[in-house]
Amino acid sequence: NETISPNSETQAAETSPPDGGRGTVYARELVKSFGHRTVLQDVDVSIQAGEICCLIGPSGSGKSTLLRCIDGLEQIDSGVLRVNGEDLGFEETPTQYRPLSKKKVAAQRTQIGMVFQQFNLFPNMTALQNVMSGLVLVKGVKRKAATERARSLLAQVGLEGHESHYPAAMSGGQQQRVAIARALAMEPSVMLFDEPTSALDPELVGEVLGVMQQLAEKGMTMMVATHEMGFAREVANSLLFMSAGRIAERGDAREVLSNPKKRRTQQFLERVL
Ligand code: ADP
Ligand code: MG
Repeated sequence: NETISPNSETQAAETSPPDGGRGTVYARELVKSFGHRTVLQDVDVSIQAGEICCLIGPSGSGKSTLLRCIDGLEQIDSGVLRVNGEDLGFEETPTQYRPLSKKKVAAQRTQIGMVFQQFNLFPNMTALQNVMSGLVLVKGVKRKAATERARSLLAQVGLEGHESHYPAAMSGGQQQRVAIARALAMEPSVMLFDEPTSALDPELVGEVLGVMQQLAEKGMTMMVATHEMGFAREVANSLLFMSAGRIAERGDAREVLSNPKKRRTQQFLERVL
């Protein structure tokens, strides 16, 4: 039952736009409502290519909605949103200012990989088919080339030999690694992770975080909503703490985790650490 409070001073200072090239994410005064309910208010984000940004905050604070906006799954109400330097929220034509066309959103989305808490694999497809489906259906890659690429991606996430397994026959950790490989198949410039380990048994969390860490080390831009404070501390560069639809605190990940300035952040960290 937190309510949206007036804009806080933590928003402005550190959010000058990134250079705007491939792998950047920029939002300015982003607002998103569902009906009369405003769930994101004046959200500013500025992420450089190769940056690992963790998104933390209580349930219902807007983490998933923010990631869904950045993935083009939700149309924002107002503000600026740019991924890879290209508008994803609104576009200006000679006569009007309007939501980006569905076609342009779809084109943008091929550049953005998203991994969900519940894996969202196609249950009727094998691991290999899951990973190659986007390549064949969206990118029009020939079957043979797509198969080769999918095999190599499965190997990269430690799933060599699991090509013909169906999701139901795999552990949650294996399914999530297939989901990561499937997202990577599209060669995204930005990867978004929405609580990727929250549905996993504790002993399977490490294998997924390990794959994410490898990806981070390769220079992928990543935004990760997570309750894994160890990952935030060890892998993330920056951290956004969300509360009631706003970014309540932001900064260097280790700095915020070890020395939170806002009481709400302190209280949240006391609960999860
Ligand atoms: P988090 O991921 O931090 O738990 P969410 O982004 O899922 O938060 O939700 C933020 C708020 O938006 C919550 O109050 C939630 O109930 C609301 N919300 C999310 N999606 C929808 C939707 N499709 N329709 C209506 N309300 C929604
Ligand atoms: Mg969520």
